[in-house]
Amino acid sequence: MKNMLLLLLAIVFTNPIHAQEKEYIELQFYMDEDDLLQQLLFQDRISRDSEKQVQAIQNFRAFMWSRYEKELLTFRYGDPQNSRYKWCLSKIKEEAKKCPDYAELFAQTQERLEYCKNQWETNYQQSFAIMKEITRLHFHRTFRVYIGHPAVPEGRYRRNMTICWGGREYGKNYTTVYLWHEIMHSYCPHGLVGHSLQELAADNELRQRLNGPEDHSWGTNENVGHPEQDSFRLFMRNDWKRYREASNIDILDLARAIKKRYGIVEQTQ
Ligand SMILES: [Zn+2]
Repeated sequence: MKNMLLLLLAIVFTNPIHAQEKEYIELQFYMDEDDLLQQLLFQDRISRDSEKQVQAIQNFRAFMWSRYEKELLTFRYGDPQNSRYKWCLSKIKEEAKKCPDYAELFAQTQERLEYCKNQWETNYQQSFAIMKEITRLHFHRTFRVYIGHPAVPEGRYRRNMTICWGGREYGKNYTTVYLWHEIMHSYCPHGLVGHSLQELAADNELRQRLNGPEDHSWGTNENVGHPEQDSFRLFMRNDWKRYREASNIDILDLARAIKKRYGIVEQTQ
């Protein structure tokens, strides 16, 4: 009988289905050279933090525009499925390599990728446990994260488990907090309620718990998020407090309850 029990236990603990149930968030970090070229050549929002990087981007643009104006116009405005577009893109890639500033910008993006990957891995266990506790969701997803140049700020969830992340660290554990914010886009409903809850969970609670109360590297310890949602986030603070203290519902139930209570109708994902 005892042997039988041991055998049963062994089956339960080695069963692959059981193993698959282990929760995780896996991030795979990539660089996409087509996206990087689009950013470096056309993006208007360039961060001025590093004059050297801004200068390298300007040099690279001048180098390319003086030689390949037609190809660049097709790359910017053309249809990616079109054969001329494809030809222009391969030409641009080939020619960009002749510009030393591009080599530098490319290397800086690779460095940024390594930095983000290391920070994510260093914080993974702790941030996963915190987010699990805050959201009460079951996490089983893998995401592709495309890293852009540090002088081009970007944070976007592009659907299909794809995240675009660019720019630099504007505070302690900045990348970890915002990668969780983007991850939460795949779980939370679209719109004001879902997004404000994501901000309360990741931008605020996760940030404060990872960094501790003494940290002021983000400039503030209160109410971080999109400025146009500031008032709504503040308004929801009591609902949030009650949810964190006592309830057994998850963050998606909370979003539904808030919409119902205040009569907010939003398109769901
Ligand atoms: Zn967002």
